[in-house]
Amino acid sequence: MTGFHYADRLDRARKEMAKHDVDVLLASVGSDLPYLTGYRAMPLERLTMAVIPQRGEPVLVVPELEAARVTEVAGAFDVRPWSETDNAIGLVARLIGRAKNAMVTDQTWAVFLLALQDELPGTAFRSARPLTEALRVIKEPGEIELLRRAGASADVVAGLLTVHDFAGKTEAQVSREVAAMLEANGTDAAGFAIVASGPNGASPHHEAGERIIGDGDAIVVDFGGTVGGYGSDTTRMYHVGEPSARYREVHEIVLVAQEAAVAAVAPGVAAELVDAAARAVIAAAGYGEFFIHRTGHGIGLDGHEDPYIVSGNTQLLKAGMAFSIEPGIYLPGEFGVRIEDIVVCSEDGADRLNHSPRQVAVVG
Ligand code: ZN
Ligand code: ZN
Ligand code: ZN
Repeated sequence: MTGFHYADRLDRARKEMAKHDVDVLLASVGSDLPYLTGYRAMPLERLTMAVIPQRGEPVLVVPELEAARVTEVAGAFDVRPWSETDNAIGLVARLIGRAKNAMVTDQTWAVFLLALQDELPGTAFRSARPLTEALRVIKEPGEIELLRRAGASADVVAGLLTVHDFAGKTEAQVSREVAAMLEANGTDAAGFAIVASGPNGASPHHEAGERIIGDGDAIVVDFGGTVGGYGSDTTRMYHVGEPSARYREVHEIVLVAQEAAVAAVAPGVAAELVDAAARAVIAAAGYGEFFIHRTGHGIGLDGHEDPYIVSGNTQLLKAGMAFSIEPGIYLPGEFGVRIEDIVVCSEDGADRLNHSPRQVAVVG
């Protein structure tokens, strides 16, 4: 992740720490560490932890054998490698010292936090989520650019799928093909692809399996890959042979619901109102009970992050927030329809990052 100003992010983190009355911020595996340092730790049992005091030098504690992977951060952080026989928890505990209030990033392993709590009974540990959310929820122009590129490569794949052969293949096979298509069209590494055919489409997070796709199947394909660590996430519908009138009716309702939610996006609008806009369309059509998940989730270094587009979330949207809009209707035993795009909230409303056609594509 080059091109980002980690020193600025560190400054912003420190301002947030002051606001939250936090003496030290601890960041381990997960996306908060690369956000702050440019370095993504392997999710291993060997401790990697950035120790960021509100005042004083930030230190990155890394296993000695990983130290060679830490390059970019060396400027801002004092890199402190520990060898296989060192006590890494003891090292971090000494750096935390007598800090009263510590914040710990969400994906830090419990085993590390529990050990630190044992070691430092005088320190209170809290979730860093309010702080990291404040830092990460508004995307910088460079982050939006990477999201846009990830969206563009997903759009290319969505187009290729309209002329792809589905019939006679298993869902798992098509899923592997989609992952390979993503990689061949600009994403860093093979992404994810939910392929849910026929009645399996009624399960929103169906895992692509051994079901063989056949004539008359509606197929939900929900996929994405990352560019520079930033993801895409889009869902398009494919249908082997002509869809039924009932399928077309349900698809149209989801399409109108998605448009309504996209149109509701603007700075100052509560996230839950975007959910309500989609839900109102589906409920008015009589399918309210079959829209069984929230309308969307934020996206960035994590595939699911703040802001969540869900009833009860009164958080106001701001320019620079990026999230999915993905209403769906799931009819058990029959089929499911979901249409998903990533949008960025801009001063002028939603800026869509996906532009591939949202109509159902009839395939073979
Ligand atoms: Zn999902
Ligand atoms: Zn998705
Ligand atoms: Zn999604």
